[in-house]
Amino acid sequence: MVKAVRGMRDILPDQARRWDLVEDQLTAILRGHAYEMIRLPLLEFTELFARGVGEATDIVEKEMYTLSDRDGDSLALRPEGTASSVRMLQEHGLLYNQTQRVSYAGPMFRYEKPQKGRYRQFYQLGAEAYGLAGPDIDAELIALGWACWQALGIESMVQLEINTLGSGDARQRYRAALVDYLSPLLDQLDEDSRRRLSSNPMRILDSKNPATQQLLEKAPKLPDFVDADSTAHFEGLKTLLTERQIPFLENPNLVRGLDYYTHTVFEWITHDLGSQGAICAGGRYDGLVEKLGGRATPGVGFAIGLDRVVLLHELAHPEAASTAVDVYVCVAEPQLQGAALNTTQRLRAELPGIRIRLHMGGGNFKKQLKKADASGARVAVLVDADSVAGDMLTIKHLRDAELGQETLAASDGLARLQKSLA
Ligand code: ATP
Ligand code: MG
Repeated sequence: MVKAVRGMRDILPDQARRWDLVEDQLTAILRGHAYEMIRLPLLEFTELFARGVGEATDIVEKEMYTLSDRDGDSLALRPEGTASSVRMLQEHGLLYNQTQRVSYAGPMFRYEKPQKGRYRQFYQLGAEAYGLAGPDIDAELIALGWACWQALGIESMVQLEINTLGSGDARQRYRAALVDYLSPLLDQLDEDSRRRLSSNPMRILDSKNPATQQLLEKAPKLPDFVDADSTAHFEGLKTLLTERQIPFLENPNLVRGLDYYTHTVFEWITHDLGSQGAICAGGRYDGLVEKLGGRATPGVGFAIGLDRVVLLHELAHPEAASTAVDVYVCVAEPQLQGAALNTTQRLRAELPGIRIRLHMGGGNFKKQLKKADASGARVAVLVDADSVAGDMLTIKHLRDAELGQETLAASDGLARLQKSLA
C-alpha cells in the first residue's frame, strides 16, 4: 500500500464536516465585510516568493517545495498567499488608482517538522486590503478577525498581540543597531540566532532560547527606533481597537518572520494548543507591491491558520458537526428502488441543505433502520408499495421514541419533515 506523504494532511469525513462548518462561518463573515474571494494558483515562479517573502526568511531558506518545470523554470508550491495575491492584482491592473479588499483560502505547503497543529500541507484563509494607508483599515482587519472568533465561539480562547515595526527606514536602522549589539556576543547566541544574525537578525527577538532571551534584555529596543508617523499610526490603531472593545496586548518583541512587514504587525494567540499557539498572523506591508515591481501601494492583511482554528473549534465544541446524514430513506423491496429514488429527489428539492441518503443494497426495514440509526439520521422515510400508490410519506422519528412513526399525505409529510429538521 502506498501511504500518504509525511506532513500531507488527510482530512477524514468526520473532521471534514467540522471543516465545512468552520469555513462556512468564516466565509459568511468575510462576505459580510465585503471582502471578495479570489482564487490563486498553487504554483508560482520560485522567484516570486524569494523576492516577496524574502531570501533570508525560514520559508524561503528551508521550507519551500520547489520543482523544476519541464522547460527548466523553477516553480514553488505556494508557501503563503500574499505574494501571489499581490502578483495577481498587479498583473491584472487591479492596484492602479483603486482600492481592493480581497480574500483567499486554500492549501499552503512548507517543509517543516510535522506535529500537532503544524503540517507540510496546511490551510490558510487570508484577507487583505490594498490602497489604504490609515490605521482604520488595520483596525477593520483586526475587527474582522475578532468577528470570526466570535462566530466560531472561540473568542475567549484567543488573545491579540500587536506591535509596530515602524517604516522601512526605521526597521533598517533598528536592524543595524541590533547587529552592532549582538555581533560581539555571537558566541553566546544559540545556533539558530547565530545564523540569523547575518541573514534575518530581527527574528532573533523571537528566539525561545533562555540564554538568548537574557542577552536581548539589554539590546536596543525596537520602539526607540520607530518614527513619529508610525507611532501616530499605531496610536490610531490602538484607539480604534479600544473603541471597538477588542482586548489587545502590546508585545514589542513581535516581529513576524516575513520580510515584507512594516508598521503594524499582529498575531492572535491561543494557549490551548500547546506550542502551536498562533492561529492568525498579519500586518501591514506597504513596501511589498513595489518590491514585486509595481508602484508603491499600501497593503495590509492577515492569514488564519485553519488547521489550528479547527482544532480550537473542536476544543470549544466537542459535540458539533458529528453526523453525516439527516434523513435516511429506506426501501421495502427491490422493485421499489426507482420509486424511492423519485421520492428522495423530491425530498432533496423540497428540503434544501438537508442531507438525505437513499438506502442501497436491499434487506428488510429492520436491517435498513439499523443503518439509518448508525448514519446519525434524525428521521427515516419508509418507502413501500402503499405509500407510493397513495402519494404518502411514512416518517419514522429515530431520536424521539415518543414521536414514533406516522404516515401522512406527501405535502403534510414534507411540512412535518421541515419542522422536525429545523
Ligand atoms: P509559526 O511561527 O507557527 O511557524 P508562521 O509565522 O510561520 O507561524 P505565517 O506564515 O504568519 O506563520 O502564517 C499564518 C498562520 O498560518 C499561522 O499563524 C499559523 O496559524 C498558520 N500556519 C503557518 N504554518 C503552519 C503549518 N506548517 N501548519 C499549520 N498551520 C500553519
Ligand atoms: Mg513558520
